[in-house]
Amino acid sequence: MDSKNYLKLLVEEFHSTTVATIGADGHPQTRVIDMMLWDKKGVYFLTAKGKEFYRQLMEQGYIALSAVKDKRSISLRGKIKNIGRKKLDEIFEKNPYMQGIYPGDTRSALEVFCLYEAQGEYFDISEPTHVTRDSITIGGCDTVVSGYFVGKNCIGCKLCYSVCPQKCIDISGKPVVIDQHRCLHCGRCAEICPKQTIQKRG
Ligand code: SF4
Ligand code: SF4
Repeated sequence: MDSKNYLKLLVEEFHSTTVATIGADGHPQTRVIDMMLWDKKGVYFLTAKGKEFYRQLMEQGYIALSAVKDKRSISLRGKIKNIGRKKLDEIFEKNPYMQGIYPGDTRSALEVFCLYEAQGEYFDISEPTHVTRDSITIGGCDTVVSGYFVGKNCIGCKLCYSVCPQKCIDISGKPVVIDQHRCLHCGRCAEICPKQTIQKRG
């Protein structure tokens, strides 16, 4: 799937996410925030101007978020911007429950934020013997390459394959190749490799 489809999944199926910022004491703080809209520019959410969360968003301009449903998860971290009341009415239209929380003109307490430049990951363990992961980017953000990669000193001994919980290493050639979409990042292959040629990146 491409990143747009993951944003659609995040907003339309997962919807409620845990969003992290840094509190005034310098430690992380989380709260549950609904992701209300998505488009090619990013993901939109809102909060009331009186909240401490609002102050942190304005000051920090950055969040990390995670959401999970049916053993599938999405995590993103990146830059946010305040777009004021733009898209507020559209958000209320597409999320009618908001009219019960902020009836009439009380929605004027709210402002909208857009997560517009971010990178992250989709991780699916709904089929435990065949996990899948994929990277997600918003706004042309570079994908951070992370995981375990086999170097050219591989001798094809297959020890890594023997200890891999997902058997996600293609041992048909040399060097062997780790399937990055199925790897758990557990590190067992790197620990056992006699040539120490499996490197962790990211
Ligand atoms: S354990 Fe190391 S040397 Fe052996 S097949 Fe795996 S990567 Fe290659
Ligand atoms: S990090 Fe774990 S799951 Fe990934 S290839 Fe190595 S042993 Fe397999």
